[in-house]
Amino acid sequence: MATKKKKTTRRALKRKPRTKSKPKKQALPLKQEPTKRQQKWQHPRGMHDILPEEWLYYDFIFKTAESVLRSYDFGYIETPVLEDINLFARAIGEGTDIVSKEMFTIDDRGSDKLAMRPEFTAGVMRAFIENGLNSRPQPVKLYSLGSLFRAERPQAGRFRQFRQINVETLGGDKPALDAQIIQIVWRILERIGLSDVIVQLNSIGCKECRPEYRQILIDYYRPHQNKMCPDCKKRFKTNPLRLLDCKEEKCQRLAANAPQMFDNLCDTCHNHFKELLEILDELDIPYELNSRIVRGLDYYNRTVFEVWPAGVSGDEIAQSSYGGGGRYDGLAEILGGQPTPAVGVALGVERLIMAMKEKKIEAPQNPGPQVFLSQLGEKAKKQSFKIFEDLYLAGIDVIESVGRDSLKSQLKQAEKKEVLYTLILGQKEAVDDTIIVRDMESGVQEVITQDKMIDYLKKGLQDKAKAKPKQVETDSDKKTSK
Ligand SMILES: [Zn+2]
Ligand SMILES: [Zn+2]
Repeated sequence: MATKKKKTTRRALKRKPRTKSKPKKQALPLKQEPTKRQQKWQHPRGMHDILPEEWLYYDFIFKTAESVLRSYDFGYIETPVLEDINLFARAIGEGTDIVSKEMFTIDDRGSDKLAMRPEFTAGVMRAFIENGLNSRPQPVKLYSLGSLFRAERPQAGRFRQFRQINVETLGGDKPALDAQIIQIVWRILERIGLSDVIVQLNSIGCKECRPEYRQILIDYYRPHQNKMCPDCKKRFKTNPLRLLDCKEEKCQRLAANAPQMFDNLCDTCHNHFKELLEILDELDIPYELNSRIVRGLDYYNRTVFEVWPAGVSGDEIAQSSYGGGGRYDGLAEILGGQPTPAVGVALGVERLIMAMKEKKIEAPQNPGPQVFLSQLGEKAKKQSFKIFEDLYLAGIDVIESVGRDSLKSQLKQAEKKEVLYTLILGQKEAVDDTIIVRDMESGVQEVITQDKMIDYLKKGLQDKAKAKPKQVETDSDKKTSK
């Protein structure tokens, strides 16, 4: 069978020179010549390359999150990276920094303006409405993973392209759903080794009770206007709730004594919040009531929360919060959909990675290959492609090295990869369909015929697995236990 293939390859190769002989190839002139000296290209500001060793962290976090989320019956939703700019303006708010300053926008050839998504919720809710997901059994549980974009000034822990785990339960208003979202966050963090957190919780009421509270807040702040920062002077007029989360020290002092939303909730909101707390108590999830966790937009209501590492305070908080979420029962209607109560959370993946590194938690390595396939000489190299394929199809974790010619450098590589067996296919072996198998532990080498190779390796690998205490863990859960 193999000989047939060889013939066709040879014929194809023979024909090649004829076409090649035409001196046709010419370098295409570049529209813009790089400057005389070779220009050094760099990644855009605030956006980074993620190299394989760094990706291990992302991979670990994403996989952990997915395994947790699937166990809670969440389905993955992928929405476009670009959406109509007005969707974000509507969903996030025209006056917010995100919309007014931080969106990357694109002119779609003179027609609509598009923006790169600065968060997930707007797109997910748009997709929910557009695809009629409200006709499915409610609630609909969705999660997304991926990149978001904000043209922020890059600083520690903040990037212009960053990644989030985004989780939403759409079509349910029960406090148990809020609790479940918090429980999921807790589970994910626990499994990646960051369970030392405190959930900061607040309720910001509803359409009924918030306007009253707003007035109480205005009455409290009015005599203190001269003690506020310039931003807060504006907030006092436009969005008094946001006075509570100002990071300026003098404003924080004012906020500390401000009347609290908890004390002004209507009965329905009060009961909703109480039930949530009871479930969290039941789950033993550590939380703190924090009346200064607020959201500035009208469609947010009731539960809001952030997840902080335990023991942070002051300025550190803004930089170290792992993420946050809450209810947004009014969003669907703002976007033209049916009333759809919803609750969700977003976790910042880069923040989690930073925290893992600070705590010296390593991302687990993917289990390495077990067999290394080396080759020497032209014929052996060609044959090794087929052998590699056979090994792969037989389910043997094999790594090849056709990119190298020197046997010495290949064997060095095999040692570095800490494989259990190295296969050596030399010129002689390629001719008589044999192969050398070297047991890397004992150093013993054997020549076997190629047709016996797979059985030989399978048995050998099995014996080694039995002899050794289990080392390679397959379940990501176990990896974080230390
Ligand atoms: Zn209320
Ligand atoms: Zn302020």
